[in-house]
Parts: sequence; structure tokens; C-alpha cells
Amino acid sequence: MAKQQQAIQAIRGMHDVLPEQSPYWQWLEHHTRQVLAAYGYQEIRLPIVEKTELFKRSIGEVTDIVEKEMYTFEDRNGDSLTLRPEGTAGCLRACLEHGLLHNQSHRLWYYGPMFRHERPQKGRYRQFYQLGVETYGMPGPDIDAEVILLTDRLWKQLGIRDKVELQLNSLGTTDERSAYRDTLVEYFKHHIDVLDEDSLRRLETNPLRILDSKNPSMQLMLREAPVLLEHLGEDSLQHFNSLKIMLDDLGVSYQLNTRLVRGLDYYGKTVFEWVTDELGAQGTICAGGRYDGLIEQLGGKPNHAIGFAMGMERILALVEQLENVVVEPNVDIYIIRVGAEAEKAGLLLSEQLRDAIAGLKLQLNCGGGSFKSQFKKADKSGAAFAIIIGDDEAQRGEVALKSLRIEQEQTNLKHSALLDYLKQWHANKPLLHKN
Ligand code: ATP
Ligand code: MG
Repeated sequence: MAKQQQAIQAIRGMHDVLPEQSPYWQWLEHHTRQVLAAYGYQEIRLPIVEKTELFKRSIGEVTDIVEKEMYTFEDRNGDSLTLRPEGTAGCLRACLEHGLLHNQSHRLWYYGPMFRHERPQKGRYRQFYQLGVETYGMPGPDIDAEVILLTDRLWKQLGIRDKVELQLNSLGTTDERSAYRDTLVEYFKHHIDVLDEDSLRRLETNPLRILDSKNPSMQLMLREAPVLLEHLGEDSLQHFNSLKIMLDDLGVSYQLNTRLVRGLDYYGKTVFEWVTDELGAQGTICAGGRYDGLIEQLGGKPNHAIGFAMGMERILALVEQLENVVVEPNVDIYIIRVGAEAEKAGLLLSEQLRDAIAGLKLQLNCGGGSFKSQFKKADKSGAAFAIIIGDDEAQRGEVALKSLRIEQEQTNLKHSALLDYLKQWHANKPLLHKN
């Protein structure tokens, strides 16, 4: 007897989405696409692997991602490649490469897996899915308001609006930030005894990120730290104020968070996060901001950009707490067929029904089995009806139709009558997608 091989398991922090979970993903993706379409955004599909240099140059050498989270490897040519840790860099790279930013504006979205070598825990994975939006060519603040409104609308559609809060800040211009940086470093140096190891390291490399620290023993000191908003110039302040007025006018409430700095180097002016307190430490479901400067950094002409990315697993975790999320059953009709004649008739009928009723979800029993075992499978499929064919029915050109979900007498029908009945039923089928 062959020795049984040890089974291979998935990589830590990388998860399968099993069939019973995928309706939730589809439900989320469906609503997301609908909202993006309502604002006229176009999809862009990008490679999962890019040159390592792209991420180093865009995200910044001294960020968490580039310092310790990237999946970087040499390919067979000896080129250094990286599994994308986020989508902004690749999207901008593609748009520059194909000349999409020349005297044009764009509203784009992408969707797919991202890879970061982080410590896996609830809401933090090594492969995770992001839906991202990037807009180019618009200086704002009107487009800043639009991308925020779009997300606000999506949360409403998903039924999670009351679980999330919008946090808003402005990071000003590069010059304003660098002046502030000096003031901030000065302040931290006066409180050097309170800084933890991470923060001491960041003091040299990326001091703004210290503001983001969750370390309880640093909170008092951070609360007193100088505030970036107070170091902004006229233009940045006006941009930020106009944005706030637009949000006020549309009734989108927000919390000013003067310590919101975002993890990546490329942000300036508007930054925002949607946060929840229902997911423990991993509470940010969507984060974004303006990154005009990145375009030149990647070799483009001066231009404007704002975008965001949302973590699909975290949104799903919020959605799964809602009991009233209804997902469509996978199957409408299950065809039970017992006997050689019946098998033939069932196969033919299944294709005829698919021809005649677009969108009908029909599953044909395969692999034989008794009426009883096939009924079990029919029930488990979630189908509303079973079509039952034995050799008798097959010979008479009939089927029996049985409702699997509601009390209703089983009826024998000719094929034409069955078709009429199912057409009618399918046209009036209640749409279960919650809106
Ligand atoms: P965090 O502070 O949670 O590490 P981040 O600032 O690194 O987040 P971004 O790069 O802004 O995250 O990514 C946007 C969104 O993608 C996050 O708000 C989050 O919802 C999701 N996300 C980021 N990293 C992960 C991860 N490792 N696993 C699951 N979702 C993630
Ligand atoms: Mg992170």
C-alpha cells in the first residue's frame, strides 16, 4: 500500500474563501461595483507583481511596508520583484506608462489581493483584498468630497453606516510638513524618556508616524504634542475648510483627528480614515488621502491625485455581524432523475430550460442515486423547486414539480406547462439582494 502523504496546508495568514463564504464576498463586491458605477468610476486591472523599485520609490524607504512587510524575491533573470503590498503605486505606474495623465482627469478603481508580511491576527493577514479608488487630474477639494461621499454611500448600502466614523485631517504641503517636523522632533526630544523603542527609531526616520502610536504610556505626551493643522499655510487651510463645508452641507459628519498621519510617505493635504470600534485593534476599514506629490516622484509632470483603499475582510467582518444580510441561494431549481430514460430526459430538459430562461440557476443531479438521496441533495442546494423525473414521467414527456420551501401540492406538468410556470416564477422571483 502506498504510504499516505502528509497534506500540504496554506501559507500562514493566507486564507481560502470557501463556497459557503463566497456569497458574502459577492454581495459586498456587487454593492461596491454598483456604488462605483453610480459615480462614473472605471475599473483598471493591474499586475500583482511589480519591480521592487516602484514600491521603494513610492511608499518610501522608511515606512513599515518597505522596511519589513514586503514579499520581495529575485526572479530567474535576477530582477528584484515584489508582490504588491498596495495598489496606488501600480495604478499610477500604469497610468504614467500609458500616458493617461496627459491633460486628462480619471476616476479609477481596482480590486484584488495585496501581500504584506505582517503578524497574522484577526483583521490582519498576509494576503488580503483591497478595493481601491484613485482619481487623477483634479486639484480638489470637490473631488476630495466626492471620494468621501462615495464611501459614505457604500456604508449605507451595506447597512454598516452606524458602525463607522469618518476621521479627517490635513497634512498640508511638503514644506509645511517639513517645518512642522522640526518642531515635532524638538518636542519629542524634550520627552525622550517617554518614547518607546519603535518611536526612538522613528524619531530619526519618520517622526510624524510617532503620533500614530497606540502605546498607552505615550498617550499623555502625544496629546500635548504640537498640532500639524496649526502649522498649515493659507492655501492648505482653505482647501481643508472648503472640504469640511461641503461635508457639512451634505450632512456627512466627521471627527477631526489631528494625529491622523497615515503610514505612507506620499500623502499631503486631505487624509481620512473610516474607523469602527467593533473590530478590536484592527479598526480601520478604509483609508485614503491626497497624494499629488507622488506623481512627480514617479517621473510624471506635476498633477493631482486623491484615492483610498478599503480592506474587504474587515468590512465583511462588520457585515457578518448583521443578521439581516440575505444572500441569494446558489440554485433555483434542482433536477432529480432516476432511471436511464429519466437521465436522458433530464439532461435535455436542463439545457432547454437554460436556453429559455436567462438567469435561471439550475442544477442537474449528476452521479446517480436513489430518489431519497437526490431529494436530500436538492434540499441542501437551497433550490426553491425540485423537478422530479422517473422513467414513467420521461416516457410521458412530463415532470413532477415540487416546491422545497413552501407548502404546495406536488404537480405533474408537461414540458411546455413547466416552462410557462417557471418563466412566470422567475420573472417574479423576489430579489434577495438587500439594498
Ligand atoms: P493598519 O494601520 O491597520 O496597518 P495600514 O495603514 O497599513 O493599516 P493601508 O495601507 O492604508 O493600511 O491599507 C488600507 C486598508 O487596507 C486598511 O485600512 C485596512 O482596512 C486594510 N489592510 C491593511 N493591511 C491589512 C492586512 N494586513 N490585513 C487585512 N487588511 C489590511
Ligand atoms: Mg499596516
